[in-house]
Amino acid sequence: MTKRCAFCGNESFEIKHIPYLYQHQEKYLLVPDMPAQICTQCGMEYFLGPDLETVERYFFAIQHREEQPDQVLEIPVKRYAA
Ligand SMILES: [Zn+2]
Repeated sequence: MTKRCAFCGNESFEIKHIPYLYQHQEKYLLVPDMPAQICTQCGMEYFLGPDLETVERYFFAIQHREEQPDQVLEIPVKRYAA
């Protein structure tokens, strides 16, 4: 894995699983354990293309009722400028 952080130029990353919110036309899929490469210097998070494609596939499979979500959450919403 040789790449540079686009923000700080650092070449050192660590792999972590972090929450990721996929969004498409005001519909959402939360992936609580998305694999990410985190820049060890500035903390910028990078996701890999194949992982993003997997999430997109899950999203549409769930939308088309071909797959069941593991869990369905109710999320509070609060507008900043109400
Ligand atoms: Zn960085």
